[in-house]
Amino acid sequence: MTTSALERFLRYVTVDTTSDEHSTTVPSTPGQLVLLRQLVSELHALGLEDAVQDAHGYVMATVPATIDTPGVPTIGFIAHVDTSPEMPGAGVRPIVHERYGGGDLVLPDDPSAVLRPADDAALARQIGHDVITASGLTLLGADDKAGVAAIMAAAEYLVTHPEIPHGTIRIAFTPDEEIGRGADHFDVARFGGVCAYTLDGGGLGELECESFSADAMTVTFQGFNTHPGYAKGRMINAIKLASEFVSRLPRDTMAPETTEGHEGYVHPYQVHASVDRTSVKVLIRDFVTAALQEKERLLERLAHDVVAAHPGASVSIAVEESYRNMREVLDRWPDVVERARVAMRMAGIEPIERPIRGGTDGARLSFMGLPTPNLFAGEHNFHSRLEWTSRQELDKAVEVIVNLCRVWVSPA
Ligand SMILES: [Zn+2]
Repeated sequence: MTTSALERFLRYVTVDTTSDEHSTTVPSTPGQLVLLRQLVSELHALGLEDAVQDAHGYVMATVPATIDTPGVPTIGFIAHVDTSPEMPGAGVRPIVHERYGGGDLVLPDDPSAVLRPADDAALARQIGHDVITASGLTLLGADDKAGVAAIMAAAEYLVTHPEIPHGTIRIAFTPDEEIGRGADHFDVARFGGVCAYTLDGGGLGELECESFSADAMTVTFQGFNTHPGYAKGRMINAIKLASEFVSRLPRDTMAPETTEGHEGYVHPYQVHASVDRTSVKVLIRDFVTAALQEKERLLERLAHDVVAAHPGASVSIAVEESYRNMREVLDRWPDVVERARVAMRMAGIEPIERPIRGGTDGARLSFMGLPTPNLFAGEHNFHSRLEWTSRQELDKAVEVIVNLCRVWVSPA
């Protein structure tokens, strides 16, 4: 008797694994360790004897190869156990709406939380499927327990079907992705694959191999403070310098509010202000790394224009690299993405490739030497009380994982 991805999923979402960006421990919260430990014992129960949890909580395991054909590479699958701190993740009460009929789904613990197929095209496509939601007070945790459940179910399928030819398959479950630390302690050498796939994507067919390139810029204006009653001709108010700078930023282009798709932006998001000294923190985003530098030069020019109009004022600018578009790595390994397309088509799914307007652990892992695109796991409305998934999309994710194990057996 095997355990379906859905049964596993319903179990995993009841463990509170909310991560905490204010924590300094690894993982950031103890609940993540509870689920990670549980996964180790489930992997052992499947017969994956080398399953271990390392000092940072990361779990790794191996599904041994069923063939000894030389040259078949080791590949891997990765999912994160934590859920977003933006929404409560304790006391999740999953509800399975069997054979969804297409109407509005009112979540019982808060009747103001309603899923409407009229506003959600992906939900409208689930008619006849088993849709899973939370009960209205919490997120569901499909991001990324759908991915965890799909990988676990695929591992069980491979173990119980030794007639399926495949090479060595590595599995990893990681903490703290939602607070941007999931790759921090990922031991790429110990993982040991030529590539990996994160199962952390949206609806059926999503295949993500492109993320933003990102820098963080700090623009600090230095003014001159003196008693305001005797300041005539002497005071230079750094708060006013900074606000002049912000008001000169582009509005109709290059802003998060006015861009989408492949367009980049500059985004002031934090100000530390005093008359003497005011600094503005700005996020710089673009899919083309060279275009980040163009945006940074534009901002430098605007800042210098501001201080040039105020003799005695000065500005200093610092730029820090945040992360880079994983496509820069994946373009060098086209086979990694192409085999994912093949595995999806084998499951009757046409891949949908869209850029991620953000970063992922896979992007960081790609630059750490492990090319890692992201595959759908049936996650919808993530970080929300209206989060949902479906049994059928979970099962398709399992099928794609198993197909990928098969397609890596044949030469490129
Ligand atoms: Zn996620």
